[in-house]
Amino acid sequence: MRSLILLIGSLITATAAERPNIVFIFSDDHALQAISAYGGRFKDIAPTPNIDKLAKQGAIFERSYCTNSICGPSRAVIQTGKHSHINGFIDNDNGRFDGSQPTFPKYLQKAGYQTAIIGKWHLVTQPQGFDHWEILPGQGSYYNPDFIQKDGGTKRFPGYCTDIITDKALDWLKTGRDKSKPFVLMCQQKAPHRNWSPAERHYKLFDGMDMPEPESLFDDYSGRSKLLGEQQMTIARHMMWANDSKLPGKPRNDTFLGGANGEFMRMDPEQKKAYEEAYRSENENLLARLEAGSIDDKELTRWKYQRYIKNYLRCVRAVDEGVGKLLDYLDESGLAENTIVIYSSDQGFYLGEHGWYDKRWMFEESLAMPFLIRWPGVVKPGTRSQALIQNLDYAPTFLDAAGVEVPSDMQGRSLLPVLKNEGKAPADWRKAIYYSYSGERTHNVAAHDGVRNDRYKLFHLPKTDEWQLFDLEKDPQELKSVHAESSYAPVLAEMKTIYQNLRQQYRVK
Ligand code: CA
Repeated sequence: MRSLILLIGSLITATAAERPNIVFIFSDDHALQAISAYGGRFKDIAPTPNIDKLAKQGAIFERSYCTNSICGPSRAVIQTGKHSHINGFIDNDNGRFDGSQPTFPKYLQKAGYQTAIIGKWHLVTQPQGFDHWEILPGQGSYYNPDFIQKDGGTKRFPGYCTDIITDKALDWLKTGRDKSKPFVLMCQQKAPHRNWSPAERHYKLFDGMDMPEPESLFDDYSGRSKLLGEQQMTIARHMMWANDSKLPGKPRNDTFLGGANGEFMRMDPEQKKAYEEAYRSENENLLARLEAGSIDDKELTRWKYQRYIKNYLRCVRAVDEGVGKLLDYLDESGLAENTIVIYSSDQGFYLGEHGWYDKRWMFEESLAMPFLIRWPGVVKPGTRSQALIQNLDYAPTFLDAAGVEVPSDMQGRSLLPVLKNEGKAPADWRKAIYYSYSGERTHNVAAHDGVRNDRYKLFHLPKTDEWQLFDLEKDPQELKSVHAESSYAPVLAEMKTIYQNLRQQYRVK
């Protein structure tokens, strides 16, 4: 009898070991340049000690890309493991996620997992396949945010959104779940999305520091399609006076856009006072220079960049603190050993590169997604992977990790063979990724789609029927398209073949 009990006991342990929990920590618009572990110009500045810990204790993927560099579409791809044109959520302008389709949480739920999503959802329709959810309406708010409840009602919570999402995720881990089941928790932050509003405790972080500028802050868009110059996402001319740059009153300079700061309007009087006080002296200094005409447009762009990047990194700081709290709880509770922890963000972002904020373009800064994963006993600590991966792969990976067969209609691939192989791609791994942006009204970025392999990037702009080709080894900043250079003719032909093949493989019409 005793041996039978021991046998059953060991079987249960084996099953639990084979079915890890998954904590998926996701943020919005967190560029990998703003994670210290990725290196780059903020490597000694980005306040990410806890996210960095995942790289030390697990793996960091250096060639991780999205399929479509905007919020809703990226999330729909993660839910389904299918490209935007298949899952139907093409853009944020008209997108409504068809929640009746198969998704990874539904498959995991069927396999006995507890599933939860807390925070930013951004797929318009209500979440399906989750035992628990509590989500922000649309983009949500930084200060005193509302959350949609499972009964369909909305509740407002005082405080700072990033902290509230972290605390709600912790509450669910501690008391909300059925502890007899493995679980997947999606903890999805709104930060550091525009308008980059920091927590009060971080208002003064980086004060007095001079943040490094990207070399292409004053990009003139020469050497590439003229459509690059038509976008409306420059730091120089497309930032809002109050909303983005936290300046008081109405614009007093015509390089700024108007519009109210909706976040400020949500604050209570004490929060407003602290906010105004934090920015007061820098603001007054700028207003005086504008008044005196002693700041030119170039210097003003530099000022806007500093203001933008500091607020962005302040938002990142709170996200990282939340990661720390979750990791601490996993340690304290003993869950860490059998829990996969992932940090990712829905796409990258321009932190001044090409003179931009925002995303959409297939250039590296917004095409790249951070992807760090800790999985004790499976992922070797300190792994740096060069495998070409995409958000398309998350759903298959989650299913495979849980021992659930990956449905053949999912278009991504499980990362397990890469994870178990010290980050090295197996021989039959993809050699290129496919990307497609359908064009939205916001920011006037032209539709384009293309492919990237380990060295080159090719994309096509239907509006002008132009090809753009970049040699990422010789031109990592992507400042010159070489599509028309005769020496690149064989590369262009090869990349066009890859493009046609991937479009066919992914059933792009
Ligand atoms: Ca986003």
